[in-house]
Amino acid sequence: MSPLTHLLGSWLIASATTNNPRDRKLVTVAGILPDADGLGAVADVVGSFVSGKECTFYYYQTYHHLLLHGWPGALAISVLLTFFGKKRWRVFFLCLLTFHLHLLCDLIGSRGPDVGDLWPICYSEPLFRHPIWFWKHQWKLDGWQNQTIFTALFFASLGLAVKRGYSFVEVISSRWDAIFVGVLRKWWSQLAARRKLSPR
Ligand SMILES: [Zn+2]
Repeated sequence: MSPLTHLLGSWLIASATTNNPRDRKLVTVAGILPDADGLGAVADVVGSFVSGKECTFYYYQTYHHLLLHGWPGALAISVLLTFFGKKRWRVFFLCLLTFHLHLLCDLIGSRGPDVGDLWPICYSEPLFRHPIWFWKHQWKLDGWQNQTIFTALFFASLGLAVKRGYSFVEVISSRWDAIFVGVLRKWWSQLAARRKLSPR
């Protein structure tokens, strides 16, 4: 699934299971970080731009879904993030949870454009080649299923943000989050006022 869907899903879980902003951000980040192994795409594009050669996405193809989409990555990232947590044991297990939710979501919804273009989860990479997991009904990355899940998570996140006073934007910046939630709450109260005024 897309990094944005992973962000929203992880943030909702973190919001329901932690009791402070720092732990919430860490648990959310654990659900996005697996896709850091796809950053080779940036090197590919920049390299191709500088050299003038055709972009083959070598680093992306070689490392994406292999460096950080298995248990070694889950363990390394969860341990690393736990150091910054307040309730450390809780952060550790929740990071493992959001990380694995990411893997599960990729397993079911990361197919390429062709039917046979399945993207496996190599659960022991980069240490061991096996096991390799496929789901033959894996849906397309931009399929309606992913779009539906994204839309549902997005509106659930907005609802929670209005209620709680913080949103998924906090993962990037607390200041931007305050602005974002301020605008959301303003819209929400305007909508509520309009509903009250409109005749039934
Ligand atoms: Zn992924």
